[in-house]
Amino acid sequence: RSKGLGGKQAQYYSKRFHKQVESRIRIENDLKTAIEKDQFILYYQPQVDAETFDIVGVEALIRWEHPELGLIPPDDFIPIAEESDYINELGRWVLHKACEQFGQWMKYPNVEKMTFTIAVNLSARQLKDTGLVKYLLECIERYQIPPEKLELELTESSLESSLVALAMLKSLSDLGVKLALDDFGTGYSSLSHLNKYPFNILKIDKSFVQHIESEEEASLLKAISSFAHSLNYETVAEGVETELQRDICCRLGVKRLQGYLFSRPIPPEDLERNWIK
Ligand code: C2E
Ligand code: MG
Ligand code: MG
Ligand code: MG
Repeated sequence: RSKGLGGKQAQYYSKRFHKQVESRIRIENDLKTAIEKDQFILYYQPQVDAETFDIVGVEALIRWEHPELGLIPPDDFIPIAEESDYINELGRWVLHKACEQFGQWMKYPNVEKMTFTIAVNLSARQLKDTGLVKYLLECIERYQIPPEKLELELTESSLESSLVALAMLKSLSDLGVKLALDDFGTGYSSLSHLNKYPFNILKIDKSFVQHIESEEEASLLKAISSFAHSLNYETVAEGVETELQRDICCRLGVKRLQGYLFSRPIPPEDLERNWIK
């Protein structure tokens, strides 16, 4: 009996494995032409001020509108793109698109009156793209983006190859753009030399926020936000899904909130219609 079951299971898993390999190869192949075919789209997730709950910015989050596989989330293709230099081309596309979009939104009368920032994710590998600073400068000049309104989000893994990364981060920071350390609290290696990097903002990872169901469960979040504030970082909490989580973040002095409670990432038309028109 156990043998039969084992056989079935083995077959099931190998089928699944086969499928996964197939989709991986498919994604790898299709990625290479997806920019030319205009298949990527940026969604935007609002960030709100923790005191007023007014929108004060957005994070651009990429999706792939695959003609056959449907809407593919970034976790299913960014890691694959990161294995090759293709991430540099894709990353530049994201920067360009985000600046172009932001340039348009800045002309909205409502947006002109607000403090309104845009955050863009960068991959670690892009810190080795020697033309990146020049490219970014061209984008912000072309769309007249005040550099301090643009935030670049990097994760701690970006800091591993430290010398190259540090030089690049300094050059980016010298442009006047803000740097945010994303998923803060999930890495562990570089805490001791965090202050040698020019980060302005710590984005508290959603794992410290989204599971909190009572005040007692907020101890890690408390520790992390007090760490961030004592080092004078501006803070953003991601993964705010409930009013309790929102209220705890507010009480802890977190400055900006982002999460499904306020909005999921949405297409630009929806952001315009529901948030900034
Ligand atoms: P991230 O930068 O940490 O982005 C936050 C992720 O958390 C997003 O997932 C967002 O949809 C999700 N999220 C926001 N609020 C909540 C919430 O309340 N609850 C839960 N459960 N999740 C929430 P998404 O859009 O699937 O992006 C995943 C990751 O892919 C991003 O994590 C980022 O690391 C990467 N990524 C997205 N766009 C880009 C890009 O343009 N370039 C690069 N290099 N990476 C990107
Ligand atoms: Mg991010
Ligand atoms: Mg994050
Ligand atoms: Mg993440």
